[in-house]
Amino acid sequence: MQTIIIGAGILGASTAFHLAAAGANVTIVDAILDGRATAAGAGIICPWVSGAEDAAFMRLYTGGGEYYPDLIAHLTEAGETETGYRKSGAMLVSGDTKELDWLERMTRSRHAAAMGTVTRLTPHEAQRAFPPLRHDFGGVHIEGGARVDGRLLTASLLRAAERLGAKRRIGHAKPVLSGRRSVGVDIDGESLPADTVVLTAGAWGDAVLRTIGGRLPVEPQRGQILHLRLPGQDTRDWPVILPPGSHYIVPFDDGRVVAGATRETGAGFDYRVTAAGQHEVLTEALHVAPGLGEATLIETRIGFRPATNGIRPMFGWVPGFEGLALGNGLGAAGLTIGPFGGRLLADLVLGRTPTIDLAPFGLAVRRESGSAIALR
Ligand code: FAD
Repeated sequence: MQTIIIGAGILGASTAFHLAAAGANVTIVDAILDGRATAAGAGIICPWVSGAEDAAFMRLYTGGGEYYPDLIAHLTEAGETETGYRKSGAMLVSGDTKELDWLERMTRSRHAAAMGTVTRLTPHEAQRAFPPLRHDFGGVHIEGGARVDGRLLTASLLRAAERLGAKRRIGHAKPVLSGRRSVGVDIDGESLPADTVVLTAGAWGDAVLRTIGGRLPVEPQRGQILHLRLPGQDTRDWPVILPPGSHYIVPFDDGRVVAGATRETGAGFDYRVTAAGQHEVLTEALHVAPGLGEATLIETRIGFRPATNGIRPMFGWVPGFEGLALGNGLGAAGLTIGPFGGRLLADLVLGRTPTIDLAPFGLAVRRESGSAIALR
């Protein structure tokens, strides 16, 4: 039984690892496209503070956060030392006491054990936890918050999968059909047979499905994200900073501090750093953390989030085709959901019962003109 995975972002890499760990024959192929979301993602793992009200989505999202410690333990057992994950805490910050009261109440009401201790911090305490913070912002600290370097974790999953027998290929791939049955993959003109094909092509998922007459309601949402360095500062244990709104600051090792990010719908696959994008991210970051003003600007990364315009992430067999499974639509939450999602996809392929009900994330067919099929 051979499985081929198209797309080696965090979702595909995790699927490959879990399949290989279960003893399955698996090959994973990636075209190393510019704007791979996993290579640009900030890496905040703190789903408990999300304002999302969709219970099924929250089960998936918090399931993702809760799965991390187990996954890191599996990877460590498998000999991986550099996974890029650290439970360094997260801190909601604001200059408005009433807003902090509300954030504290909302966070505590989640009652999630994985969140650890929730502590209200005065502006002085908040600045001690994150020195570049403006002096009039207080905080709500979440002990179980974490951050992950998506590049390191994905590389670690792929290395571990290879040691368990998985094969890796570089190239542009598309499914090969016999009638409505998927029988393999074409990689730059070379055919590889497979019993099952799994599509985890992120923002390119629609383009891949179109090669076999399908459609997927996923489009790229461009994110521009800045990497700064504070020379000589020990940033390793600083918490993730979550101000009101969609911007944030994520400290890593060696003085590296990441400030993100734009959310640009409609920019397509335009792989460029724009003046407006750079301006937006720096303005937001320096407003919250003026202490970053002296940091060195090292690089700006660009990633295309697989966005679905309000539709839940998708995990399941592709209706209308045999032997074709798919995971997509992780949007702005994919570094959190991806590792868990990969385990769910592996369970699906192996015929095991996934640990959460996948029905709310299943795919439905909508027939359009001619033979084209739109999923969901
Ligand atoms: P991708 O990582 O994009 O992987 C898809 C892969 O498919 C790519 O490697 C591509 O090369 C390959 N591919 C495509 N077509 C083909 C083909 N035909 N043949 C072969 N290979 C192909 N999430 C969080 O949880 N927390 C965060 O803090 C966070 N911050 C983010 C910040 C930014 C700026 C961005 C852009 C994203 C952020 N995310 C975050 C979201 C997260 O990064 C994504 O949801 C996640 O990485 C998506 O993973 P994926 O594997 O589905 O897609």
